[in-house]
Amino acid sequence: MANQRQRRIGGWGFEGESYPPSRRMIQWLESATGPATHPMPTGPADPPPADGRRLPALTATVSTDPLDRLAHSRGQGLVDVIRLRCGLVPALPDGVCRPTDSDEVAAVLAQCGAAGVRVIPWGGGTSVTGGVNVIAGDTAVCTMDLERMAGMTDLDEVSGLATFGPGTTGPATEAALNAHGLTLGHFPQSWELSTVGGWVATRSSGQESLGYGRIEDMVAGLEMVAPSGVLQLPARPASAAGPDLRHLVLGSEGRFGVITSTVLRVRRRPTVTRVEAALAPSLEDGLSVIRDLVTRGVPLTMIRLSDAPETQVAMAVGLADSPVAPLVMKFLELRGLVDESCLLLYGTGGERDDVSEILQIARATIRERRGAILGKRPGAKWLHERFRHPYLRESLLDLGWATDTMETSAPWSQVPTVREGIRNAIAGALTDVGETVPVLCHVSHPYRDGASLYFTFFYRCAADPDETIHRWSAVKRAANEGLIELGVTLSHHHGVGQWHAPWLHHETGATGHRILTGLAESADPTGILNPHVLLDADDHLES
Ligand SMILES: Cc1cc2nc3c(=O)[nH]c(=O)nc-3n(C[C@H](O)[C@H](O)[C@H](O)COP(=O)(O)OP(=O)(O)OC[C@H]3O[C@@H](n4cnc5c(N)ncnc54)[C@H](O)[C@@H]3O)c2cc1C
Repeated sequence: MANQRQRRIGGWGFEGESYPPSRRMIQWLESATGPATHPMPTGPADPPPADGRRLPALTATVSTDPLDRLAHSRGQGLVDVIRLRCGLVPALPDGVCRPTDSDEVAAVLAQCGAAGVRVIPWGGGTSVTGGVNVIAGDTAVCTMDLERMAGMTDLDEVSGLATFGPGTTGPATEAALNAHGLTLGHFPQSWELSTVGGWVATRSSGQESLGYGRIEDMVAGLEMVAPSGVLQLPARPASAAGPDLRHLVLGSEGRFGVITSTVLRVRRRPTVTRVEAALAPSLEDGLSVIRDLVTRGVPLTMIRLSDAPETQVAMAVGLADSPVAPLVMKFLELRGLVDESCLLLYGTGGERDDVSEILQIARATIRERRGAILGKRPGAKWLHERFRHPYLRESLLDLGWATDTMETSAPWSQVPTVREGIRNAIAGALTDVGETVPVLCHVSHPYRDGASLYFTFFYRCAADPDETIHRWSAVKRAANEGLIELGVTLSHHHGVGQWHAPWLHHETGATGHRILTGLAESADPTGILNPHVLLDADDHLES
């Protein structure tokens, strides 16, 4: 059971679990970047012995145990993991409080507000944007872990509405619903550890968002406790009574208040979920397949198209292994399409016959665009392993390679340009230190008007971990600037956190930024809640 496994500090997931790279993946990395020569220490380094600053008496339980504080000092971004592994964490929270209900949350906010203590809401701590990080030099910080406010507290089966505590993890959410033959259908790759409150606070998007929607499509109502009061929004199917206040909470990243309860729209659990794979002869063909399927409303729950470099790596590492793959490759070779072909994964869930029919429509559309079907094995493998992929990062760090991801979205007409622009920005970010940064991209989470672009990049660790962090910040800064230059969003689903915040005003415009600042001031007049996310103008990439 997930909650009996011991969570790893300074790395993804649970102790004892790993997803080592195949020999072919290492060969690919060596050819792309040169051999790795500086394995990252495996840490975590011992927590600093210094005591935290004294917190006021709080109504909720507070832990000042150094290991607990260390475990709550950083999220799960690449740089967080490097810092934890190398003993380079600049600051810890002074305590970790664990309220059990909304009243305790309100009391803690009042007590911390009166004492000038900052509060960082913590769900699963899987933020990859610096969203839960403690900054050195701040006044005292209390991290508020919501794990004791977990579980399904109400179920209205007639309306398909289920109410959850903010600290409920993905597996716990599904287990509670599955017992009633229901599902939420929200499966971010961080599903094993991330929580309902975190999903709402970051506007998360699951891998099957095409069928089930993003988290904002699922939130029917919620409660948020802010320093200035409690916002209660009961579930309503729809309303025209002014602006939708749920949308001020969605994406608020713990800056406006603590989400203490969420009513989610749930559905009947599918009898089967199937994912299949195909090769499109080019990115352009693959994109038109997706556009075609989406605009016709073919009820897939996911579809994702790797660009040619990502496809070649997938083939090299065996992710696209299938009995027919060699034949398909031969066929593409004869047509001179091997270098350009792009892996498509597409899937859906439902009753067995419906699923077969929907996948048949998808296959026919792919064939119309000269695509080749790879059969069931690669999709089944992806479905089976999808929550194990994050462990790969830790294994690569053990060998001396750093890897990270970033994402955006763009209208269909701009997808190719944005892919090219961001690839170039990332790939060129370390030329001055003579390092090559291979970049892979896939297009997923499609909408009628556009889709998400998701980039994965790799670089070699340096001998000095500070230099490895510096390389990461150079890539991240180049990517952020590239997104702004291209006029696309800083994030499709990871959120703003600390690491996109200084660029946010480009996206919102001055007026939008002023409105958001006003909202933060109204909800949290003394600025105690997670003050470095969302609206902080300072660059914290290396903090
Ligand atoms: C390997 C990996 C894969 C990922 N894949 C995806 C993906 O597929 N899709 C996706 O959307 N994201 C993904 N993420 C990013 C991350 O998992 C999401 O942002 C997730 O929603 C965060 O949830 P959490 O519970 O871990 O929140 P945390 O990391 O604990 O917090 C995130 C932010 O929300 C705030 N917050 C948390 N709980 C509350 C609350 N109850 N009230 C108010 N504020 C709160 C925090 O203060 C912080 O600002 C991935 C991350 C990793 C490491």
